Amino acid sequence: MKKCNMPPLTSLYSSPYSAERMGYVHSLESLGTLDGPGLRTVVFLEGCPLKCIFCHNIDCGVQKESHKISVQNLVKKVLRNKPYWDSYEKPYCDKKVCIKGGVTISGGESTFQPLFLRDFLQDLKKSNVHIALDSCLITEKEVLKMIAPFVDLWMVSIKHTDPDQHKFLTGVNNILVHKNLKFLDALLSKNTNNSSRIRIRFLIIPGLTDSEENIKKTGEIAKNLKHLESLELLPYGSHGKYKWEKMFGKYPLDGVPDASPTDIQRASELLKPLEIPILFPLEYHHRPSTM
Ligand code: SF4
Repeated sequence: MKKCNMPPLTSLYSSPYSAERMGYVHSLESLGTLDGPGLRTVVFLEGCPLKCIFCHNIDCGVQKESHKISVQNLVKKVLRNKPYWDSYEKPYCDKKVCIKGGVTISGGESTFQPLFLRDFLQDLKKSNVHIALDSCLITEKEVLKMIAPFVDLWMVSIKHTDPDQHKFLTGVNNILVHKNLKFLDALLSKNTNNSSRIRIRFLIIPGLTDSEENIKKTGEIAKNLKHLESLELLPYGSHGKYKWEKMFGKYPLDGVPDASPTDIQRASELLKPLEIPILFPLEYHHRPSTM
């Protein structure tokens, strides 16, 4: 049998920090308001292990040589926006209050380039930046352990609670997602100095993810987390359609309507008995329904 020369993961991830490490970055959104608390710079990394049929960033799944940038250059670019992060007011709980912003790592899948991600987060944290990480948790436990010291808010997408439906929507079942979510919650408990929280992100897609059973099961998953910050309801929109048509000639969700405010309201009503904090889309002013 041929010997596998791949180094063990632990040695791979113990590779030292390097400011020169290169990674694939699709784009930056300077002043985002949709991905995490307050005003944020959103970094869209390239590469993703999934191909979700509703993805509105499907172009981020491909890594392009022309999009390579070093850790130190990315940190420099991102920190240019720092003066804005702490000085933004938006309605919260019917009052105008200042919510501290920061940087959100999204994609693609944020953990797909683990060493680049670790070095970028490590460098960013030196400037005392609030860091949110948007992830589907299709990754290795070693990666979660490696980046956990730098992440303040984990924004975890639960695409579907049923393994077959999850496979239909994303290409893989959800076993690893649930294992990693439990692992992450336990990991945060182990570190007593860590005030990190988990936000569950739930995309409401009419006819695909909005069954009463799936909504309630998603709520139960969130409720069972010791470190839950909130469950965020996101309305599906077909705004990524043009990217699919450009890249693949066809949009998989043609004919599926965008989620309406009524769809979101219905989901929140179904979740009410669980008494967990619910975040609504921006047009609802990110107002928690309970607390
Ligand atoms: S995990 Fe996110 S970025 Fe990747 S295909 Fe799914 S929705 Fe798109």
